[in-house]
Amino acid sequence: MIRLVLFGAPGCGKGTQGDLLEEKYGYKKISTGDLIRAEVKAGSETGRKVKAIMEKGELVSDEIIIEMVKNRVKQDDITLGYTMDGFPRTLEQAKALSNIPVERETAIFLKVDEEAVVERLVSRLTCKNCSAIFNTKNKAPQKEGLCDECGGKLERRKDDNEETIRSRIAVYKEQTEPAVKYYRENSTLYEVDAAGTPAEIFAKLEEIVK
Ligand code: AMP
Repeated sequence: MIRLVLFGAPGCGKGTQGDLLEEKYGYKKISTGDLIRAEVKAGSETGRKVKAIMEKGELVSDEIIIEMVKNRVKQDDITLGYTMDGFPRTLEQAKALSNIPVERETAIFLKVDEEAVVERLVSRLTCKNCSAIFNTKNKAPQKEGLCDECGGKLERRKDDNEETIRSRIAVYKEQTEPAVKYYRENSTLYEVDAAGTPAEIFAKLEEIVK
């Protein structure tokens, strides 16, 4: 079992690259943001607890997220490996992930400047149905407002507005950078310049993953 861990600020391209890696190499993308949004959509007890936190751009508790990840990695659609998108986001989560054994782990940090991520996120569209990611600037859907993958309706995430994006970046600096530091010190962390198009960034990731 292979584990890829994608680090980087909101909007650095973790989700898009996770999808490309899944498509080409069969490593399942595990997006904790998607798992949380599914709970909110289903109106579960967890969903009701975390909805407001998520919409403000704050982090859901480690306990809830770690439990979700532990359950997700056990599912049998995961055969070759998986890519973590949006987890770990705290030091506590990084330590918990180290306790989930794999044969090989590769961690990659996608580096991109703050203004570029704000610009990407305000023009991002997400499929309501399958969570595929589009962008009106550099990855527009073929039919306006509809997902290329499943035909579902595209929407702007509630937390993709400038004010919330700025708070998410602040939360990232305060709470996630310690997790990145932990990986830098305890594992090998590859750094990739993530300015550029999804295809350009993917080519750099493939060099590492291969
Ligand atoms: P994302 O789709 O990765 O941008 O995540 C959207 C939101 O879900 C975040 O702003 C958090 O509120 C929540 N979330 C996702 N992953 C985590 C995590 N690992 N730890 C805590 N909260 C998370």
